Amino acid sequence: MGELPYFIEVAQALEICNKTTLQTVTERVNLDDSHCRILAVDLPSLVDDPPFDNSAMDGFAMRFEDTIDVPATLEIIGTIQAAGQEDNITVGKGQAVKIMTGAPIPNGADSILQVELTSTEDNKVTLQQESMKHFIRRKGENLSKGEIALSAGTYLTPSRVGLCATMGYSSIPVIKKLKVAIIATGDELKQPGEEIERGEIYESNSFGLSGLIKWLGHESTRLNCIGDTIDDLRQTLNQASLDHDLILTSGGVSMGEWDLVRKIMEEEGDIHFWRVKLRPGSPPLFGTWNNTPIFGLPGNPVSSHVVFRILVAPWIRHITQANGPIENRAFAKLATKVKPTKDCLTLRRVSIEVTDDGLVAHQKIHQGSGNIASMALSEGMVILQPGCEYSIGDTVEVMFL
Ligand code: AMP
Ligand code: MG
Repeated sequence: MGELPYFIEVAQALEICNKTTLQTVTERVNLDDSHCRILAVDLPSLVDDPPFDNSAMDGFAMRFEDTIDVPATLEIIGTIQAAGQEDNITVGKGQAVKIMTGAPIPNGADSILQVELTSTEDNKVTLQQESMKHFIRRKGENLSKGEIALSAGTYLTPSRVGLCATMGYSSIPVIKKLKVAIIATGDELKQPGEEIERGEIYESNSFGLSGLIKWLGHESTRLNCIGDTIDDLRQTLNQASLDHDLILTSGGVSMGEWDLVRKIMEEEGDIHFWRVKLRPGSPPLFGTWNNTPIFGLPGNPVSSHVVFRILVAPWIRHITQANGPIENRAFAKLATKVKPTKDCLTLRRVSIEVTDDGLVAHQKIHQGSGNIASMALSEGMVILQPGCEYSIGDTVEVMFL
């Protein structure tokens, strides 16, 4: 294997991954299709937001100076519910206009009092307190026309899609979804729904990995799960590399004789590293197959998920220049003992409780890397640095699941 980087630290693995880049393509999509996508350009607002001065409250608009002596009683000279209605109204001394939230402020008015603090009789309104200037939302106070509100690489969360609409866009340029092939390997694997016999298990990794790819805003194809034969693997890798940007395999990357992904990559592919100081998830490899980047992920379900979050997701964000979605992290107090390892970055699954004392992490579930329930039923993973000791009461970093 010559110079192959072997059993390297996570940071070094990421550095190596990042040397492999992909040409991304931009496409324009309707806003409805832009959720969870990556914005491809800096996006200037097409309008001021708000586009005109308007009321932040249902209530009355008037001159502030007429409301200083409370209770003040003013004459109601009209109602404004929508744009246009204010054009022929000017609020003068001693006058008020009934106004709805979001409606344009009439000429002459410089303040609002919300309806709850008023009482009306015939065409008179009595104010319980002085009116408020800050209940006028000023033209352009949120955004000015031409201002870049969202920059290239922004991960489009629901509120950001709403902001695109507010800025006047019906469609926006986004990074074209990467096409990711997912290949599960293992003679023992059966599709969920089929009968299993002794020695067989249901194939689950491709489903989880597919969800992780979609979470990042890309497109996944779960190719047929294949048995442990070199010929099937070669054929499937060849097929996958023809029309995908990235290949993820699961299983077959450990030291064993049956670990065919590692074997075929050694003999026929191009490996950039194998094995990482990460627990669970030390076996992964990264490289290219026919110039298509490939991550060989471990077969153990927890390990494949952890490796995705620690290596694959950061690399995909890197090549798409995306600022999200990210693995949200926080600090929590340990309520139970957790076991670090000597030389690996170690992640243990924990439940996370919000208490008066801040976040508290409990390791309740047994931590086997084959136990996907331990991940599915936990809120987070504590991140334990190699060689460090952790005691109950210590504050540790957690990554939310
Ligand atoms: P391997 O890395 O192929 O040796 O697999 C390690 C462990 O993960 C074995 O117990 C496999 O049965 C299990 N495993 C491998 N692939 C999958 C999969 N796609 N879904 C669920 N479990 C798997
Ligand atoms: Mg296997």
